Amino acid sequence: MKIDSATSLYAVIGHPVGHSLSPVMHNFLFQKHKINAVYLAFDIYPNDLRSFFHTMRFLPIVGCNITLPHKTNALRYLDKVDKTAQDISAVNTVVNKNGKLIGYNTDIYGIQMVLNTLKVDISKTTFLVLGAGGASRAVLYCLAKNNACRIYLANRTYSRALNLKNLITRSFPKLEIRTSPLNESYLKNIASEVDCIINATSLGIKAQDPSPIPYEFLRRRHKIFDLTYNPDGSALIRFSHKKGCRAIDGLPMLVWQGLKAFNIWTNIEPEFSFVYRKLKTELK
Ligand code: NAP
Repeated sequence: MKIDSATSLYAVIGHPVGHSLSPVMHNFLFQKHKINAVYLAFDIYPNDLRSFFHTMRFLPIVGCNITLPHKTNALRYLDKVDKTAQDISAVNTVVNKNGKLIGYNTDIYGIQMVLNTLKVDISKTTFLVLGAGGASRAVLYCLAKNNACRIYLANRTYSRALNLKNLITRSFPKLEIRTSPLNESYLKNIASEVDCIINATSLGIKAQDPSPIPYEFLRRRHKIFDLTYNPDGSALIRFSHKKGCRAIDGLPMLVWQGLKAFNIWTNIEPEFSFVYRKLKTELK
């Protein structure tokens, strides 16, 4: 593709951002769809976030993705934010419409697409969600929005699980969320009660990380969604396959949220599988 005076610029911003697969995904899509654009990664320090969005209005930066640690702080610099991003106070996609910055959250869509692929009927499923950070907040919001009735939520730092429960039940008062510290005795008791286990902790980013739930507590009927991804597969994904559970790691979510962002920018609906294959190869 030729870069010329008509080339548009897109970017992912984060700190750090060097590990991001978004430039590979979006440059691949721009080439595939013959769009004259390039997508870069910008490492933006938290103190420079305001300056970045100010600059974005004046330069031809048509869109950006936002990753850690800026997803919440970015909200204050945008002109308009869609309801989902507003509700969970996290934005991961921005479009620049003639100097007006509009924010969206496409992570929820990514989570929903993975649960669809796992054939999880959210309103009829009992969930165990591990972790209480930003990813868990998005998971809980997605479950609440789709009429989940009972969620067990466990986190290493118990106060964070309680805070997250309070945040979600403020918007969804009928949803039953039972919280606990993340420990083996709790997992042993609860595993037999749940149908779907979602790992939203950071355990699994490295192949040598332990599984957040021991092998012996898994049941063949469990559906497993591990938001982490690494080229060798997390311990949880390896255990799930050995046990015969239906399981999906975090790469499809990454692809789905990226496809939705691409759609917001271009109106094009790219095919999932060829982007997934590209990123899988890149990850290796
Ligand atoms: P975060 O806000 O930093 O939260 C991290 C969570 O992991 C917290 O609940 C933390 O517990 C827990 N944790 C960290 N180390 C742990 C350990 N050794 N044992 C048990 N729990 C531990 O991060 P996040 O944004 O929620 O991201 C969580 C994971 O989701 C990351 O692996 C991230 O890569 C992944 N993610 C994937 C996608 C995707 O598209 N696939 C999107 C977003 C995030 P404490 O509260 O006790 O610290």
